[in-house]
Amino acid sequence: MKFEQRIPRETSARLFEEAQQYFPGGVNSPVRAFRSVSGPPLFIAEGHGSHMTDVDGNRFLDFCCSWGPLIHGHDHAHIRDKVIDTVRKGTSFGTPNLLSNQLGQLILDNHRYVERLRFVSSGTEAVMSALRLARGYTGRSKIIKFDGCYHGHVDSLLVKAGSGLATFGTSSSAGVPENVARDTLVLPLGDRDLLEQTLTEFSSEIACIIVEPIPANNGLLIQDRSWLECLRIKAWKHNVLLIFDEVISGFRVGFEGAAGLYDVQPDIITFGKVIGGGFPVGAYGASKEIMDFIAPVGPVYQAGTLSANPVAMAAGLAALELCLEPGFYERQASRTDQMATQIEAYAREQGYPLHVPHIGSIFWLAFGTERIERADQIDPDNMKYFKMIHHELLQTGVYLGPSGYEVGFVSSAHSEVDLQEAVAKICAAMDVAFAAEAVLSVD
Ligand SMILES: *Cc1c(COP(=O)(O)O)cnc(C)c1O
Repeated sequence: MKFEQRIPRETSARLFEEAQQYFPGGVNSPVRAFRSVSGPPLFIAEGHGSHMTDVDGNRFLDFCCSWGPLIHGHDHAHIRDKVIDTVRKGTSFGTPNLLSNQLGQLILDNHRYVERLRFVSSGTEAVMSALRLARGYTGRSKIIKFDGCYHGHVDSLLVKAGSGLATFGTSSSAGVPENVARDTLVLPLGDRDLLEQTLTEFSSEIACIIVEPIPANNGLLIQDRSWLECLRIKAWKHNVLLIFDEVISGFRVGFEGAAGLYDVQPDIITFGKVIGGGFPVGAYGASKEIMDFIAPVGPVYQAGTLSANPVAMAAGLAALELCLEPGFYERQASRTDQMATQIEAYAREQGYPLHVPHIGSIFWLAFGTERIERADQIDPDNMKYFKMIHHELLQTGVYLGPSGYEVGFVSSAHSEVDLQEAVAKICAAMDVAFAAEAVLSVD
């Protein structure tokens, strides 16, 4: 398969070349480098609503949405106006401010599962702080995480399962000391017996279980409610804390995120992405009792120079106000369901090995026809299809995150026409990607 460019990409290519001199690999976050798809990464010049335009003048229907934060699309008037009003009054004071109170109140009034919050500046920071809180609260150091869940680039979570039956982790990044990795126990999602065994053996050393209740960073590995309930019950039974990392699912699948959707109460929740309305915001929240372990009330230290700055708070407030409009999440979910169902129906009709897991306004192009619930069920060989689909979609004006392990997002700015156009273009891209296969199956 050769990747013929039918759209101009010269300016992006030149800027990317230049960027190599400034940043490792030319980027400030690794997946942006387009290494698993074809061609240079696109330099985006602007975005409005459901579309963005690159520096070569190509226009794309955007399903990456800045990797999740843009639930209202680009340049939403309500968010933009509130941000501009705020910027005019100064951008940061390093003091408490009215906007952080307002955003805090808006969240706590509409979320049954948290009583106190602390704002930080990224999802990674939220997770890092939540782990410290869990360790400080319990006085223990080990944590349990699951293969296939991503929690940001926190040292103790850049850890993969060790070899053999040993569940002790080994670091998945250079620079993470093995003695840090050893405190992380990595289990497969859904293995209740192994979880019970691990908790029984180590419960006196384990501070918390951390999970993405809707794992959406390594494909979309939708879990059964009963598994999340099992985590809840076992955490209580063994007296360890349960952390839901809702950086991607929080305010995305419902205002109360996965906790609300499944009605499972975790002990600590981490937030990011949607909560900042396109600005760098993260947060973690829990009961008053647990959060009172945080400084200045409690012994667990955590701080931030730009935490809860008024501009980021204004963006978050405006974004979440829109999310609270009646029917917002129902509408998002039904439109996404329609789009996914249409793509899936076409794949089935044509005999293409593709299905589209989706929940709320998150979807994933999954290869094969079997439901995928664990990381090890993803066949890396199938990523060749994604590479072709991604390329074809760029040529026809649809932008997906540049890796087959990434999910897509539908925003409220995507119109019915946008979604119909996307279905048609994704189906046409599948025709190209599976052409060889189709011929084989006819034979
Ligand atoms: C994106 C993400 C993070 C990391 O957030 P950053 O803002 O990129 O640091 C952590 N956990 C989950 C579940 C995420 O989706």
